[in-house]
Amino acid sequence: MIRLTVPSLDSDDLEAVRQVLISGQLVQGPRVAAFEEVVSKYVGTKYAVAVSSCTAALHLALLSLGIGANDLVIVTAFSYVATANVIELCGARPVFVDICPDTFNMDPDALESALGNLEKMGRSLSRLKAVIPVHTFGQLAHMPGIMEIAERYRLPVIEDAACALGATHQGRPAGTWGIMGCFSFHPRKAITTGEGGVITTNDLPLNHRLRVLRNHGQNPDSEAPDFVLPGFNYRMTDFQAALGTVQMAKLDRIIAARRRLAAVYDKLLRDSGAQIPVIPAQSHPVYQAYVVLLPENVAPCRNRIISILREKGIETTIGTYHIPLSTFYRIRYDYQAGDFPVTDQVFLRALSLPLHERLTEEEQRRVVLHLREAIAGVTNNG
Ligand SMILES: *Cc1c(COP(=O)(O)O)cnc(C)c1O
Repeated sequence: MIRLTVPSLDSDDLEAVRQVLISGQLVQGPRVAAFEEVVSKYVGTKYAVAVSSCTAALHLALLSLGIGANDLVIVTAFSYVATANVIELCGARPVFVDICPDTFNMDPDALESALGNLEKMGRSLSRLKAVIPVHTFGQLAHMPGIMEIAERYRLPVIEDAACALGATHQGRPAGTWGIMGCFSFHPRKAITTGEGGVITTNDLPLNHRLRVLRNHGQNPDSEAPDFVLPGFNYRMTDFQAALGTVQMAKLDRIIAARRRLAAVYDKLLRDSGAQIPVIPAQSHPVYQAYVVLLPENVAPCRNRIISILREKGIETTIGTYHIPLSTFYRIRYDYQAGDFPVTDQVFLRALSLPLHERLTEEEQRRVVLHLREAIAGVTNNG
């Protein structure tokens, strides 16, 4: 089977975890701080706060800004559900914004009109508390445009950079544009700690609040345990952090491999009818996933294409989710097809191809050969 993804784990990764397990100090030891130091240096922010997942990171980011009942948070319609779930879990309500058809990222024009609509509907903009753009599949959202609009409306920006550690736009890394950036170390991302997340920020009070919230509300600066808030246990373990530190040292190597493999796919897919990833000028994605758009006429057969490829020993999957049309959001807010027309299309047509460091060019040729055959097959058979 040519797997969709395989984590890049070597013997030094295993050894790092082993050392922590042998030490007996599995949690709240020195490894988390060391991992945070490496991540903040790499991203280029003053602080990095390690947590148990990117979902936890996003949840704490919203809570640290005081977002709660009856607040509104703007978010992209096309993402993993966690990006919107955390808004609901704060008691707030997501305001979804459609995406660009080429980059799959939040469309700044759609953001502008969503804000205009809220104003027109007489809805008080004062309930609007933040914007969460997502760096979809490891490519930065259109941050200059989004930041300009957000600043005009005085809205803090939380980057969902789950897939984008190491990605840049205009030379500026993911996680440094907004007031906070949230990263994931789930095995589906370029490097992993099993489960794991990090929040990056340059803001000292936010850094403090995030640390309080992740650890039962305990003030990290007080000598004796002092619980100043009702907090969570969203901590990362020491063996995850030790693994993360070793993984971080490999990140540039892994990103280089992913970019090289993506360029090979780009070439092999020429004239296949599938639209290859579109990279705007000055954008350097890290290809958390290599996602193509199938020709419009075969989109209704995407599931068949996925199973045809599986029979050939090739694992593929959809791109990501149409959040407003997933059952919970569709029913709760009465969304329908047509409300987010670009997301409608991209959700149906996106196909994620195998991509991991150990994928060979030979395997990539097989993937593309069978993809071409599958597209031709479903086109002929209707
Ligand atoms: C993976 C992912 C998440 C969730 O990350 P976890 O670490 O699994 O909680 C959130 N947002 C996006 C865009 C993701 O791709």
